[in-house]
Amino acid sequence: MNFFVEKCPRCKSALEVKEQPSSKTIIIKACPSGHYEKEFHPALETYIERNKVS
Ligand SMILES: [Zn+2]
Repeated sequence: MNFFVEKCPRCKSALEVKEQPSSKTIIIKACPSGHYEKEFHPALETYIERNKVS
């Protein structure tokens, strides 16, 4: 089990880390096809998941 490779729940593609130059306190991982995003807030030790319905 690899916690560092997360996959899109819809298409099972590995999520890509998006660079956030304006906000270094947030890390966003997203499906390359735009189905799903996961936003990490390390300072709050939490994350927000977003499923994109198209
Ligand atoms: Zn996807």
